[in-house]
Amino acid sequence: MKHKTRIETRAIHAGQEPNPETGALMTPVHFNSTYEQDAPGEPRLGFEYSRTTNPTRTALEENLASLESARWGLGFASGLAATNALMDRLVPGDHVVCGNDLYGGTYRIFQQVFARYGIEYTFVDSTDAGAVKDAFKDSTRYLYLETPTNPLLALCDIEELSKMARSRGALTIVDNTFATPYLQRPLEHGADLVLHSLTKYLGGHSDVVAGCICGNDDKLREELAFYQNAVGGQLGPMDAFLVLRGTKTLAVRMDRHSDNALAIARFLEQQDVVEKVIYPGLESHPQHALANRQMSGYGGMISFELAGGVESGKTFSMATRIFTLAESLGGVESLVEVPPLMTHASIPPEERRAAGLQDGLVRLSVGIEHVDDLIADVERALAAVRTKCGVRS
Ligand SMILES: *Cc1c(COP(=O)(O)O)cnc(C)c1O
Repeated sequence: MKHKTRIETRAIHAGQEPNPETGALMTPVHFNSTYEQDAPGEPRLGFEYSRTTNPTRTALEENLASLESARWGLGFASGLAATNALMDRLVPGDHVVCGNDLYGGTYRIFQQVFARYGIEYTFVDSTDAGAVKDAFKDSTRYLYLETPTNPLLALCDIEELSKMARSRGALTIVDNTFATPYLQRPLEHGADLVLHSLTKYLGGHSDVVAGCICGNDDKLREELAFYQNAVGGQLGPMDAFLVLRGTKTLAVRMDRHSDNALAIARFLEQQDVVEKVIYPGLESHPQHALANRQMSGYGGMISFELAGGVESGKTFSMATRIFTLAESLGGVESLVEVPPLMTHASIPPEERRAAGLQDGLVRLSVGIEHVDDLIADVERALAAVRTKCGVRS
């Protein structure tokens, strides 16, 4: 039943069956390290030790695989633990082509951890297929992409780029955290592996840190599961349970996130102190047509530039009452952050500006509160910017 049904239905049921003995609907949290064996070396149902597998984690992994149209999923302790597992397959001299607007922690693990072991990275503008093509070398093993990117919400063409990578013998990995499988399924567009920070929309309630990898190649699964068991870093049962609870409502949450964000983006576009609004759902977004082709909705993230630079961003972020000033994203509650002062503060200002990240940039993770309350909150914060910073355009 599960594989023929639609994603809204699979989100609720895939990987989960009522308990045959008690009828309990929900997958239990299996707080459990070891399992009784029927005979030496014959673990029942394959469960042997919880670093290797745990029934709650298995339920989540099947659920995630189903959402991403994948054959398998593997749960990790965080999004970065999942990235770590992929990078640890490489050997010194191997090369990775990646987007130049990656999640900061991903950039950090590449440059400050794996570069020390002789893994080479080339960062390119992934919206420019020619630039991506030119970055490939004989030693390139991965094309590592985010779409939409953070915080500039640029999109790249997964189908075109993964075809290119395949012709060069490289695997395409898409970090699908911002879009979620409800809005975009990279494997259906030719990517080899999908990675998530489940901490964000899939968990959806800002109460858990978790990650996963999904794919179709069984040999890769075997290799990554071996690595996971050998090294540790897998997802615990309580965290797996929390994400399972989150994915049940993924569809309704993403619809509301997207509707609210589009309304706020349109509202921001009309404001005198807002110089630019970046949202894939706006006709003004440079990859709006690609968004319509590759995604089934535009998501909950908006970035915009205020006149008056960093001071305006700071004033805005401190004047909101519903949008909480915090890093992270993807929860039911709305958040605001100022990339130049927070998530992207470690990038030198000139480099930041050169990458298109302007001083007045503000990023919103639009939640699922009532849209009128959110717009009133944005309006209040814009009034504070006008008063305090004396900005008018
Ligand atoms: C948060 C995030 C990560 C890292 O995930 P953690 O769960 O925090 O380790 C990776 N990629 C993107 C796009 C993210 O937003």
